[in-house]
Amino acid sequence: MAKLHSESGLIFRVALPIPLFRLFDYLAPVASPTAHPGARLEVPFGRIKAIGFLVEIVQLSELPSDKLKQVLRVLDEQPLLSAQDLQLLHWASRYYHHPLGEVISAAFPAVLRRNPSASAQTEQHYALTAVGTATDSLQLKRAPKQKAALEMFQAHKQSLSASALSRWDKNWRVPVQQLLAKQLLRAESASQTAHSIDTLIKQDALQCNPQQQAAINAVCKGLGQFGVFLLEGVTGSGKTEVYMQIICAVLARGLQVLVLVPEITLTPQLEARFRQRFAVDIAIFHSKLTDKQRCGAWLQIQQGRSAILLGTRSALFTPLKNPGLIILDEEHDASFKQQEGFRFSARDVAVVRGKLLNIPVLLGSATPSLESLHNAGSKRYQWLHLPERAGLAITPVLQLLDIRNKKMQEGLSEALIDEIKKTVAKNEQVLLFLNRRGFAPTLICHSCGWVARCLHCDANLVIHSHSKLLRCHHCGKEQRLPGQCPACKTGELTALGLGTERVEKVLMQLFGDKTIARLDRDSTQRKGALENYLEQINQGTVDIILGTQMLAKGHHFPNVTLVAILDVDSGLFSIDFHATEKLAQLIVQVSGRAGRAEKQGKVIMQTRRPDHPLLTTLISEGYNSFARTALAERQLAQLPPFSYQALLRAQAADDGLPQSFLQAVLELAQTINTDDTKILGPVPAPMIRRAGLYRYQLLFQGSKRQPLHHLLNELMPKIGQLKQGKKLRWSLDVDPVDLY
Ligand code: ADP
Ligand code: ZN
Ligand code: ZN
Repeated sequence: MAKLHSESGLIFRVALPIPLFRLFDYLAPVASPTAHPGARLEVPFGRIKAIGFLVEIVQLSELPSDKLKQVLRVLDEQPLLSAQDLQLLHWASRYYHHPLGEVISAAFPAVLRRNPSASAQTEQHYALTAVGTATDSLQLKRAPKQKAALEMFQAHKQSLSASALSRWDKNWRVPVQQLLAKQLLRAESASQTAHSIDTLIKQDALQCNPQQQAAINAVCKGLGQFGVFLLEGVTGSGKTEVYMQIICAVLARGLQVLVLVPEITLTPQLEARFRQRFAVDIAIFHSKLTDKQRCGAWLQIQQGRSAILLGTRSALFTPLKNPGLIILDEEHDASFKQQEGFRFSARDVAVVRGKLLNIPVLLGSATPSLESLHNAGSKRYQWLHLPERAGLAITPVLQLLDIRNKKMQEGLSEALIDEIKKTVAKNEQVLLFLNRRGFAPTLICHSCGWVARCLHCDANLVIHSHSKLLRCHHCGKEQRLPGQCPACKTGELTALGLGTERVEKVLMQLFGDKTIARLDRDSTQRKGALENYLEQINQGTVDIILGTQMLAKGHHFPNVTLVAILDVDSGLFSIDFHATEKLAQLIVQVSGRAGRAEKQGKVIMQTRRPDHPLLTTLISEGYNSFARTALAERQLAQLPPFSYQALLRAQAADDGLPQSFLQAVLELAQTINTDDTKILGPVPAPMIRRAGLYRYQLLFQGSKRQPLHHLLNELMPKIGQLKQGKKLRWSLDVDPVDLY
């Protein structure tokens, strides 16, 4: 082995954000030979300059010195990530078998990842001085702008960032400068310190019921050390109140809280509740913000200026200066799993992060995932239960409506239409759920049987009548709705099946004088459209809400007293073992939208399978019983969480390629000892062709985690060397949440 030395004699081993399972050696830079792991570096890479991350400093390289280039610049004298965060990223890279450079890169906001000159500085903050706190604002009555600014600071009792001030009044700079000159305000640089609860809270906490109090006490007792708590609370049971009271205890210790939600649309409502309650700085992080805003939020938290970070999956890795608690709301939601690139589960990584940081992790849901319930059952997680709605709200009544042989109008039975009439007559709102957008899922010729199919996918085209298009929901390709059958030229074209547009149309005929809001991906595409609808619904100007699973996610509709699931059967017959769990969660979540205030709600599910055990168990015994039955079935079938899976997917335009590639992988795997791990496949994916690509998969399943990962560790570098692998796209998904 050749050894080589830079001037300092040191070699920097660098992870680059590229899909390769290796590190790159560079000579230490002359200017700053010492840097710390996690620091961003600018390095020459091929013909470009790249930003990489220092992994370790070593004495020797396996490459001769004339082959090594020198690090151009150390971008962070002090790394922005803590040692524990780096440890977490190393773990995630190993566990998900994803290249370290891409994993570390995922922890940074785009600005810091791409732009070497981006400064890691946060915005200026301003706070009251002691004099400013004591000054009566009336003394400024001749300077109304300064008076208003002073009063605002006095009301907030905390430092305010430039962007918070801009939200308050875009002409804030002049009065703030004047207050600075009078020494009533000061520009802040200090990081957060412990606060007294008094200064943190703007609005009093609610008086909790005993179950809420027990949950709060349990978590608060566990502050300062690692532990996972699973808060299972029916919708409206006051989980958010529990979160807020625990957050308060964490803030009082001068520590920060990371709160993750599955969907961007859930952030505004939680943000509003937090802002009402807490006087601390709250940072928001999700993909709808600009790069600059995200970078700002990231640095606010990293430097300890914000006390709460509220965000989606992508916020998970944000470094916390003073970590105190991680909360994942709606922990069952599949959106916590990243489905492309670095395929990680934010829930599972959050638990590991809590362990490394030695802080508690609180998972909350009305319908916890089977994995988490299993962990609670085996005492790895502490189970906290809120079985009843908080305050005066009453639990809704669930009922099945047998629609066999019943007359239907576009998916609505007469009995249901009656219920809708009664409800709107009382000035209460109705929510109708149908998980299919568009007008109808199939266009068929009445005379020759021709069906509109996507040319690129194994799927029918969906009719969109508003836009007069046929659209593929898998690849997005669209074409004009034909006027006549393209095959026989004479036949009449008929729409088969139901979509939200079609139900909307019949609702408009039946309830012409009522306001109907359709919420699905098509109707909410415009920026702000969804927020607009939600606002209208809350103000009570909408009578009937019709929508897709968008409605199932944590929104509050206090005046809805009737919820109907139009076609519950379509979810009952999937080949993926996760489907029953997801359907049960969906039903319970949608039902939870009913009667959240003091009015009793009713939930009607139209079905042709009124005896189906999933439905009857859910209705008579509730979600937790359903979950226990489902877990018993998983155990019998040796499915997760009683076994561990990884799915290798491959796709190519040529049908033969993915098959022969996966066959080669299978043969490689068989040369490695796989006693515990079964390998199933290669088999075609349930939808074999999508967007013009043929898709196949190979499933690894083991009864223990260790041997499975051992096999994957050996296998992955070998797959990287397979020639076939270069001609197609493939990916490994550890703990897949769906198998297509
Ligand atoms: P969840 O997050 O479980 O759906 P929320 O925390 O949003 O429930 O609470 C539902 C409603 O009940 C909210 O309007 C909340 O203010 C109210 N609430 C929560 N806890 C209490 C309580 N202890 N007493 C009275 N009302 C409560
Ligand atoms: Zn025809
Ligand atoms: Zn398609």
